[in-house]
Amino acid sequence: RILLTRVFDQYRETLKGIAMTVQDITREVELNEAKSNFISNVSHELRTPLFNIKSFIETLHEYGEDLTETERREFLETANRETDRLTRLVNDVLDLSRLETSCRIYHFEPVDIAQPVEQTLRTYQLNVRDKGIELRHDIEPNLPPVLGHYDLLLQVFDNLVGNALKFTEPGGRIAIRAYLIEPALNHHNESKSVRIEVSDTGIGIDAEDQEAIFERFFRVENRVHTLEGTGLGLSIVRNIIEKHHSQVHLLSEVGVGTTFWFDLDVFEEKNTGVEQTPQ
Ligand code: ADP
Repeated sequence: RILLTRVFDQYRETLKGIAMTVQDITREVELNEAKSNFISNVSHELRTPLFNIKSFIETLHEYGEDLTETERREFLETANRETDRLTRLVNDVLDLSRLETSCRIYHFEPVDIAQPVEQTLRTYQLNVRDKGIELRHDIEPNLPPVLGHYDLLLQVFDNLVGNALKFTEPGGRIAIRAYLIEPALNHHNESKSVRIEVSDTGIGIDAEDQEAIFERFFRVENRVHTLEGTGLGLSIVRNIIEKHHSQVHLLSEVGVGTTFWFDLDVFEEKNTGVEQTPQ
């Protein structure tokens, strides 16, 4: 019987090994699929503005003399806008692929969340004023620093506030809030966290699109501002927050507004100098 048990144990180990290998292969296949989907999406997205720019330049080159001054100016303006779109796209694709490179090491350090928030407010100051939108922030006084990466967090605020601005009508309001939450509210660990919210009184997002907006290149259809975006902003946000071992959530109601929120761990002395490698 001892022999049988041993044989059985060995057999079970082998089975476990096979199951693990199958799991690894499945994951590899999934990753490869995601990668090739990404590449084909990127190529498609890059081709459209490139095709438009080329057509406008070609038309100007061949038929420029037959066009009126106003038409020529319009053609150039459109080509210029398309070039900006291409630049945004290339930048976003590079940011995302850099974030997804698994060997990259990020240095996490204490970040006073008021700093990237104030920098974002300065960046958007003029745009919000031009559009007639109020941008306010409400950072709890004496908030402890969080463990994070300054530039990546700045990019999160930039993307979220940029979206809020695009999808909020004049007269609306955008608010950034940050406050301390006790461990009881925060399921994933024992230490305190800072909750950060970016909310707007914009057009909102349908319940059925709320999961998909984090997917690469997803944009809610039939919206005026669709052309301005790349559909990568929220994928970048999700990726950055996951690097901070947290998750982005949202609450949204069509016609009322949207709030994106996430929690960041408060910096503790024992974490000094931590270098975290993303999975
Ligand atoms: P984009 O570059 O198109 O903004 P994102 O990944 O940042 O790409 O967002 C994906 C889509 O989610 C947007 O196209 C928009 O339809 C929707 N969305 C994002 N933020 C908001 C918001 N604050 N209010 C309403 N819709 C939003």
